[in-house]
Amino acid sequence: MSSSAAGNWIQLEKLGEGTYATVYKGRSRTTNEIVALKEIHLDAEEGTPSTAIREISLLKELKHINILRLHDVIHTETKLVLVFEFCDQDLKRYMDTRGERGALHPDTVRSFMYQLLKGTAFCHANRVLHRDLKPQNLLINRKGELKLGDFGLARAFGVPVNTFSNEVVTLWYRAPDVLLGSRTYSTSIDVWSCGCIFAEMITGVPLFRGRDNQDQLLNIMRIIGTPDDRTLRNIVNQSPEIVLKQFPRYPKIPLHQVLPKASPLGTPHGRLLSSASFPHFCFPNTI
Ligand code: AMP
Repeated sequence: MSSSAAGNWIQLEKLGEGTYATVYKGRSRTTNEIVALKEIHLDAEEGTPSTAIREISLLKELKHINILRLHDVIHTETKLVLVFEFCDQDLKRYMDTRGERGALHPDTVRSFMYQLLKGTAFCHANRVLHRDLKPQNLLINRKGELKLGDFGLARAFGVPVNTFSNEVVTLWYRAPDVLLGSRTYSTSIDVWSCGCIFAEMITGVPLFRGRDNQDQLLNIMRIIGTPDDRTLRNIVNQSPEIVLKQFPRYPKIPLHQVLPKASPLGTPHGRLLSSASFPHFCFPNTI
């Protein structure tokens, strides 16, 4: 970390507001390089927030083309500034402005999905769960590269299974086992979020839009069906902390009806996948 480097950067316009910081565009006084400056104001009593410490310690280890590169960390008396590579926009804004009513071209979906999965796989191979994958946290640059950002909720995981907080992942992208109260979840929670983002890129609207935990679960079950008793028993066996409630019995809606463009049975135009690469679309514990 450096404290003298703060003066090296000219702060330009505000780019966005995160969970614990404000992000500005910045320019190097010496090289004119454009970066993103994530400013975290330090509370005199509470010191550096744990989210910032997590983001710094994990990102320092994760160097991959599909993960936002942390160039430097600057600390002054009152603030901490993370210097990141600059990206033109996040995926949410990209879909709002470029997409046809938010939906992206199949070639774009294919490319972004591949990059999202490569970045996620790299995190998992390095024992990091991102835990907050959503379009706002995926950055896109002019070259069409997609990068995972905002590691404020990320956690290192290891063997034996850790127990984690279940207050993670923005509701609409939250996996059903987390919604049910699991504290022993693993990499599948990020993969679930990737699936939700995939559907959203295809249709232009988030797939499951619940108001709260319970409503989110029902939204999921209305589409992929209520898990049968055997699956529910397996879920509880794997995560005994889960207390199951009664759920209405919803049938599974065939994927080609929910996402025709993603299905080998869907419309011939804009088909995204061949049947060979067709992903499983069900509760993680039933796979
Ligand atoms: P974060 O706190 O990392 O979620 O950042 C909040 C918002 O700031 C994001 O949703 C982006 O719109 C913007 N932002 C974050 N990092 C960058 C970056 N490296 N380049 C451009 N915009 C960014």
